This record gives sequence, structure tokens and C-alpha cells, in this order.
Amino acid sequence: MISPGSTIGIIGGGQLGRMLAMAAARLGYRTVILEPQEDCPAAQVASEHIVAAYDDPNALEQLAELSDVVTYEFENVPVDSVEMLNESKAVFPPPEALKVSQDRVAEKRFLNKAGIQTAQWRIVENEGDLKAALLAFDGKGILKTRRFGYDGKGQIKFTGAKGESAKSGFAAIGSVPSILEALVDFTREISVIAARDEDGNIKVYDIAENVHKDGILATSSVPVSVSSTIAGLAADSARKLLDGLNYVGVVGMEFFVLANGTLLANEFAPRVHNSGHWTEAACAVSQFEQHIRAIAGLPLGDTRRHSDCVMENLIGDDIGRVPMLLQETGAVVHLYGKAEARSGRKMGHVTRITKRL
Ligand code: AMP
Repeated sequence: MISPGSTIGIIGGGQLGRMLAMAAARLGYRTVILEPQEDCPAAQVASEHIVAAYDDPNALEQLAELSDVVTYEFENVPVDSVEMLNESKAVFPPPEALKVSQDRVAEKRFLNKAGIQTAQWRIVENEGDLKAALLAFDGKGILKTRRFGYDGKGQIKFTGAKGESAKSGFAAIGSVPSILEALVDFTREISVIAARDEDGNIKVYDIAENVHKDGILATSSVPVSVSSTIAGLAADSARKLLDGLNYVGVVGMEFFVLANGTLLANEFAPRVHNSGHWTEAACAVSQFEQHIRAIAGLPLGDTRRHSDCVMENLIGDDIGRVPMLLQETGAVVHLYGKAEARSGRKMGHVTRITKRL
């Protein structure tokens, strides 16, 4: 166990790092952030900030020296950095989880091998692969870069309409190694947030229903009107994933629900997840505290929901609505300390308690 008073290293300085640092502070820990951007959201609330690139060897050495355990807040952290740190300090979630999540092909293979169903998929290395894959999927699919995609970036949709071609599609994705997924005709998108500790104990939060706008999460609502079979299947998938990766920490896993009741996993993130922000307002122990508990070797906390709620992301100009939101009864407002409200930028979120249970 890493006792309170110790220091938790966090790679990445965005809002997830900020909320982790706040949760760590509540449990008596110090935090040190590794992030090249000065005055980043996480550094504003952390004990220390190493201003350097995520792969700067001196900075990594400094981070290892200062930290008793290290974690990360985004999945594009270089695996080499995490493996290097892991030689001298425990890094959670394990580097293997990061590695798998960084490559959509490795991720799909891992999920399928663990018995978790996904959309059909094909590897696309070139235009010819894409042509063949589109043919196999009736001309419909979503082409995604294997690496570095987020919030719907690095994706091209094929609907089977005239004028779509493998040639222009592959060029539009940047002619980089990609994956074509069959187009899923889903009725809902849901996600599950779960945590595993070093002893293999697992705790799962209630499932949330997510609505995306322009590829970015807009709202997460709890509860979700899906059958208990679907809910159970989603929780089981998370358990399989966590055990399969010998995982420690919080994971976020996204799914599609089909009209016929089939559940398909879309992807997982080896970190706290935007669709789990509601837990801070509607559970005794938030996903952020849960992650800190898991990586520090503390007992996992209570995941029961005490309220129904809807979390809404405040994106770009939405920040202008904050004065109104602050006047709303039952609204929990959380802002990330970002100075500039660029379009598409997550500035904060609000969770509205809709019913106390
Ligand atoms: P992702 O980056 O994989 O989370 O994709 C972003 C969003 O695109 C998802 O939340 C879905 O709304 C949509 N999407 C992704 N993959 C598929 C798919 N295979 N079929 C239909 N919609 C998808």
C-alpha cells in the first residue's frame, strides 16, 4: 500500500489528470504531473509540475524519483516511457493495457480473444485492402486509423453511396495503417466504468447511455433503459477485459447496443473516462477516487448510485452558460481551468441530479 502523504505521478496534464489529482489530494496524497504545456489543467491543482515532453528521459527519471506510484491520464502516452518508468516504479494500469489500447487492431484482437464481441473488422494497409474490406461489408463501414484517433478524429464513414471510393477514402485517412469496421446500426451507445485492484477484486459502476455530437461525447445518462441481460453482459465484458490484462486501476469501456439485443464492444480506454464523470455527483466514491484507491493499494470503494443523473459536457462556447448553470438546483458544475474556449474543446461538465434514490 502507498500510504497517504506519498506522491502519485501522473503522465498528462489535461482535465482527467486534474480530477485525478483532486481525488488524490482528498485522500491525502501529493501529485506530480509530467506535461509539456505550462499552466495545464492538472498542474493547477497538483503539488508539482515537470514541464517536459512525455518521452524526455531526464524528466522520466525525475518523475520516477519523485513518485511512489505512476499512472497516466490519456492513452497516447508513449509505451516506451511507461515501460522505462516501470523498471523502477510501479506503473498502473499496466503497460500492456496501454499498448493494446493504442492500436485498434491489437485492441479488437484482444477483445475477441477474451470472448467479447465487436463489429466485424478488417486490417487496412493500403487501398487494395480497403477495397476488399468494403466489398465484404456491402460498401458500408467506418475507416479508422489504427493509432492516435480520439473523439471521432481519424475516421471516415462509408455509407455505400455513389461516389465513395477506396482510393479517395484511403487518401483522406492519410494513407496510414487503418482498420475498417463494419457499420453498426446501433440503437444506443452505452459504457461501463470498472476498476480492479492488485488482488483481483473488481467493482463496476452502473451503465451509462452516451450521446455523441460531431464525434465528441455530449451527454451520459444514468440509468439506461436496457435489459438486465445487456447490463450484465457489459459488466461481464469489463471483468473479462480487466482480468485478461491483469489490470490495476479504472477502465472505461464503450459498447453499441443493437435493436436485436446484441451487445458489441467498440473500444476501451485504460484510464478514467468522460462517460464516468457522473460518478462524482451520483456515487459515494467517484471513478477518480476509485482509480487512486486501486493504484495506491487502498480498498476499492462503493460504486452504488445514490441518484439518477445526466452529465453534459461543456464544449467551447458552452462555457458561457455557466452563470445560468450555477443557479440550477441539483446541478453539479465542474470546470477545468482552461483559459481559451476553442470550438470542440472540453471546458467542463455539469451533472444534473434528476432523481434521488
Ligand atoms: P470511436 O472513436 O471508435 O469511439 O468512434 C466515435 C463514434 O463514432 C462512436 O461513438 C460512434 O458513434 C461512431 N462509430 C464508431 N465506430 C462505429 C461503427 N463501427 N459503426 C457505427 N458507428 C460507429
